[in-house]
This record gives sequence, structure tokens and C-alpha cells, in this order.
Amino acid sequence: DFFHRTLPKVELHAHLNGSVSSQTIDKLIRRKPHLNIERSMTAIGKGQRRTLEECFQVFKVIHQLVDTEEDILMVTTDVIREFAADGVKYLELRSTPREETNTGLTKKGYVETVVKAIQLCKNEGLDIDVRCLMAIDRRNGAQVAMETVKLAEEFLLSSDGSVVGLDLSGDPKVGHGKDLLPALQRGRNSGLKLSLHLSEIPSQLEESDLLLNLPPDRIGHGTFLHPEVGGSQSLVDKVLKNNIPLELCLTSNVKGQTVPCYSQHHFKYWYQLGHPIVICTDDKGVFCTDLSQEYQLVSSTFGLSHEDLWNLSEQAIDCTFAPETIKQQLKQKWTDLKPRLF
Ligand code: IMP
Repeated sequence: DFFHRTLPKVELHAHLNGSVSSQTIDKLIRRKPHLNIERSMTAIGKGQRRTLEECFQVFKVIHQLVDTEEDILMVTTDVIREFAADGVKYLELRSTPREETNTGLTKKGYVETVVKAIQLCKNEGLDIDVRCLMAIDRRNGAQVAMETVKLAEEFLLSSDGSVVGLDLSGDPKVGHGKDLLPALQRGRNSGLKLSLHLSEIPSQLEESDLLLNLPPDRIGHGTFLHPEVGGSQSLVDKVLKNNIPLELCLTSNVKGQTVPCYSQHHFKYWYQLGHPIVICTDDKGVFCTDLSQEYQLVSSTFGLSHEDLWNLSEQAIDCTFAPETIKQQLKQKWTDLKPRLF
């Protein structure tokens, strides 16, 4: 509704190919009719649930549809425009650089195209600041992780400030964080910020402990960190001591069945502690949501007032990987917009 849509928002956990809307999927399907892909294969609708494995199958379908620079340019500009239309003023998009031998797409070309799309949207005058994180897919192992870090370093030095960090994501059941530690450490030392998916499923305690020692600058999900769900107090203490913000994605976690229902989402645990948390969408296309809806969901599930939601969205500014000057500008924007809503 009006409040949630008009509320200025910060989106920090959005996977590019998971964020593709049904309208854009339709355009892609028209470009590649020979693939015989239907819209229903790329999204999980209202009330539907999938296992995490099934969710990862969906990404494979989308990747078939998005395999040229032309596709990436369209997808990225569409996703940015949609977030802007939803009242998002600052967006960090993350994506796994991919090469496709069939189309001649290279990893470098992939990232250049994402950066180009960000630039195009800036020139359009959209009221949204966009940055990007390069994603390390954990299933691809140590060597690819290191290559991704080196690519990100190149962009950190040469591009316009769009590339700000690294994400660690992919199927949590595959691979182990310890193999990726050297790459993540190197990225960190080069000035890349780190947002890592941690404890998205149970039984990752050892890995989470190891990765928390880096420490990361933000945590994706962190669903099973706290003792009430089989995590541990020592993990929680590490998060608290380093004041590491958590990116929380309610619809994604419930549809992906890592959380049984909204009221049992770990939002409650961390919110009660007063710990920095950021409401995010994860994959707005695949999970058929948007950031306004996620704020509304938090408010209806946990009884947060408009003022509480405002504070959540404003506090998210400090969790961004933007330069300090941009953070100040965003805070000013929030101050200017407040009278419209209160
Ligand atoms: P892309 O990196 O832009 O291609 O976006 C899709 C990719 O994001 C998937 O292939 C996964 O590697 C990653 N991803 C999306 N959602 C999740 C999630 O909930 N957990 C872990 N990884 C995810």
C-alpha cells in the first residue's frame, strides 16, 4: 500500500538473475522460443513452497534465458527500474560472472555489461544509487573463487565505483567455506567488502564459525546461527561483537522452506536484540515479491509500526557498502522525505 511503497528503502541482498520479473522473463522467452521455457518454470507463486534444491533448479532455467550481453543489459536495466519504481533509493545487486561458450559471453564482458546498465540507468535520471557485488558460487570451488576476486579487483580499480564487494552464495549443501577462505581473505585485503551467505541451512556451524573470523562485513540470511534453532551462543557472540548486519529475506526463506512460517522467522530473534538487520528480497522474480511487500510482511507478522519500519529502512543506510559521502546524502534524502509519510 501507499506507506510501504512510498517509504524510501535500501535493498542490499538481491541476486540479479533471481530478481528478473515475469514481464522481463516474457521478453526473454520471446527471444528464445526454441528453449521451450514457460514462465511458470522461473517463479514460485503465492502460497507455493519448494525445497532449496528445487529453487536452485529454477536459477538454471533462468540462466538458459540470460546468456548474452544483450540479455544481461536488458535484465539489469529492467531490474534497476523496477526497484526504483518500488521506492528503493539505494540498491546493491549481486551476480555471478558467467561465461557461455555458445554465445561468446566472457566473465569480464558479463561484469562490464552490468556496470554499463548501471550507468545507463544513472543517465536516465532514475532516483536510485546502484552498486554491485561479484558473487562467488560456492559450488565452483577455490580456483574460480580466486578468479572472481581478481576480476573484482580489476573493476574496483578501473570502473566508476560501481563494484564494491563480493558475495558468497550458491547451494549451501555444496562445497565448503574453508576452501574459499584464501580468495575471500585476498578480496578483503584489496578493499572489497564481503557479504557472505552464512548458516542458510542447519549443520554449517563449523563453516560459519570459520567465516565469521574473517569477519564479513554483512551476513546473508544467518538463519541457523542462534541457539534456539541449533546454532550456538558463541556464533551469536561473534556477530554481536563485530556488529555484523544481517540481510533478512522473509518470503524467500519461507518459500524455500528453511523457515517453517513467517512468525518463526529469525527476524524476531535479532530484532529483539536491537542488532542491525536489513530487510531484503533475495530473488524478487523467483519468489514473486518486492521490497515494499517484505516491509509490509515484517510489519504484519511482528506488529511493527510505521515508525519502526521507518527506523529499519533508515538504519539500513549504515549497512551499505557505499562511500561515506553517499551515506550522508542518503540520510539527507530520508530526512527530506519523512514529512510526506508522517
Ligand atoms: P546470479 O548470480 O545473478 O546468476 O543469480 C542467481 C544465483 O544467485 C544462483 O545461481 C545462486 O548461486 C545465487 N542465489 C540466489 N538465491 C540464493 C539463495 O537463497 N541462497 C544461495 N544462493 C542464492
